[in-house]
Amino acid sequence: MVVLLLTPRSDQAELWRRLLSAALDGIDFRVHPNIGDPAHIDAVLAWKPPHGVLATLSRLKLICSLGMGVDHLLADPLLPQDVPIARLVDPNMIEQMSEYVLYAALHFHRGFDVYQRFQSERRWEELPLPHTAMRRIGIMGLGAIGTDCARRLAGLGFSVRGWSRTPKALKGVRSFSGRHQLAEFLGETDILVSVLPLTRQTARIVDARLFAELPPGASFINVARGELVVEDDLLAALDCGRLAGAMLDVTVSEPLAAASPLWAHPKVRITPHIAGLTNPVTAVEPIAENLRRLRAGLPLRDLVDRIRGY
Ligand code: NDP
Repeated sequence: MVVLLLTPRSDQAELWRRLLSAALDGIDFRVHPNIGDPAHIDAVLAWKPPHGVLATLSRLKLICSLGMGVDHLLADPLLPQDVPIARLVDPNMIEQMSEYVLYAALHFHRGFDVYQRFQSERRWEELPLPHTAMRRIGIMGLGAIGTDCARRLAGLGFSVRGWSRTPKALKGVRSFSGRHQLAEFLGETDILVSVLPLTRQTARIVDARLFAELPPGASFINVARGELVVEDDLLAALDCGRLAGAMLDVTVSEPLAAASPLWAHPKVRITPHIAGLTNPVTAVEPIAENLRRLRAGLPLRDLVDRIRGY
């Protein structure tokens, strides 16, 4: 089986080669752009491939995303239509995402954003602290990551709710679904967490109208994709006090331009898309499992529904 690695992270190529060869017998592993004959490639491990490259691989049978999101693949106008796409579902990455969300939720819950400003003013002052069970955390997207975040936040004693396309039955988590329940969900959310995939339906969903549905003084955490958010509306909501703060791991353009007002905004914390990092050591097993299934003609796991877009 000929497997091609197609990622800007060329520093990880040797590690992928070693891990995949150890997990699977008989792999001919190639690294873009040294692909040999494009007609020999059976499967691709891809992160942000240049548009059009996948279309040149005439024997391609499987595209494995090296990230949990697949918007980077579906954005290719020349993406082969009949090749299955499997996204990465790595428990280690899910854990990393939850760690980030827990940190951010506690940051806002305990007022660390405000205490940081107080410190810069050498101000010794106590803020009111609502009981944890009264703090309402709303998670947009109750998939692999959102479900794990919801369980852990509920375990800490927060009042947790989630919004998804279809209803969910998760212990300790109130489920809202569909556009018709979005306003109700937002109306009882003090800390909003975005962990939706980027699709035609979710692009720019976090806008002025959405912020207006949140209780005044709510906070916003985005670990999903920057394009879910209308950044001008976010800045306006922060400036008028509708939003108390935002912690953003992702932005519309990445890297975030030096001139962006988000960098220096006193109510914004920025991290450079590091909430969950693909670690080949743990990501290799779900990918190898799919390659084994492909070879054996068995049903593949974690397949993307192209119509839904995730
Ligand atoms: P999943 O596909 O497992 O879950 C997606 C969730 O979003 C599901 O609950 C789904 O609803 C819901 N959803 C999708 N479309 C809509 C819609 N139109 N309205 C309401 N709900 C919707 O995704 P993951 O949890 O694995 O990942 C989520 C995203 O996190 C990824 O797509 C990626 O962009 C981002 N990510 C970011 C990382 C980072 O480092 N910052 C790292 C990893 C991922 P339903 O359950 O009903 O289908």
